[in-house]
Amino acid sequence: MKIGFIGLGNMGSPMAANLAAAGHEVIGFDPAGVRAEGVGTAQSAAEAIKGADVALTMLPSGTILRDVATDIIPAMDPGAVFIDCSTVEVDTARDLAEVCGAAGLFSLDAPVSGGTAGATSGTLTFMVGGPEQAFEKARPLLEIMGARAIHCGPAGAGQAAKICNNMILGATMIATCEAFALADKLGLEQQAMFDVVSTSSGSSWSMNTYCPAPGVGPASPADNGYEPGFAADLMLKDLRLALGAAERVDAAVPLGRAARDLYARFIDEGGTGRDFSAMLPYLRAAGFS
Ligand code: NAD
Repeated sequence: MKIGFIGLGNMGSPMAANLAAAGHEVIGFDPAGVRAEGVGTAQSAAEAIKGADVALTMLPSGTILRDVATDIIPAMDPGAVFIDCSTVEVDTARDLAEVCGAAGLFSLDAPVSGGTAGATSGTLTFMVGGPEQAFEKARPLLEIMGARAIHCGPAGAGQAAKICNNMILGATMIATCEAFALADKLGLEQQAMFDVVSTSSGSSWSMNTYCPAPGVGPASPADNGYEPGFAADLMLKDLRLALGAAERVDAAVPLGRAARDLYARFIDEGGTGRDFSAMLPYLRAAGFS
């Protein structure tokens, strides 16, 4: 297939490289430059998707996605598939689906879980919203970039699943970090803390797979000076998406709100550009209250 890939950052680059390695013709566009193995370079998003069977986007926000969509939808061939893998508002996904439908395109919201490690190894989980027919067309590509693709329902259902998942992730990362900070002050070794919790009822992905304490557990951004990984700014974005959605449907999300407020404070106080697991040194810092 011919694929236009827009947004080649921490996630998009390895995803595009995996599609190219599987034999697809991939043309990329990113204003910061294209650095994905086997991926050709276009000078604009519209150029990247010219004549493409599939347009794929992996962008930082719904506002940017809307701008890119405005550029590329008129340039896409009827019957082509628009797959957005970014994490954005449910309403943005629904609006985009409507515009794509009117232009004779298939479209899916297909956000991912699994982080940069999953993007590199092709083991992402895709949570997909949109028509069954579009899902079936996209499935072979999703199976290259991921280990699982779950069709969650109509347009917007993928984003709904994603923001619920990431609201849990934000809260469990904070809980894991504050427990490590407490354990420290109680004189408990980090390794003992990991060995117990990772095999006990306090275990979670945040502890077992992405441990925020350096030197224990599998390799994670904590072992690399808290370079992202998954930037704290993106976690705050996702928590804001969850809170915005919760307000619109009047859902109670007290822990989600607390997590949003703490990540907002972390970002204000120097967390920008750090991995979201750097919540641990932030909580450990002298004087935190
Ligand atoms: P990133 O900031 O590394 O990459 C985003 C890329 O988009 C950048 O390279 C940027 O230059 C590019 N971009 C910005 N404006 C553009 C435009 N107009 N046209 C084309 N490209 C443009 O972010 P990321 O970590 O790759 O995340 C991308 C998306 O994936 C976000 O929505 C994020 O929430 C989601 N996500 C990230 C992770 C993760 O672990 N990093 C995991 C799951 C989902």
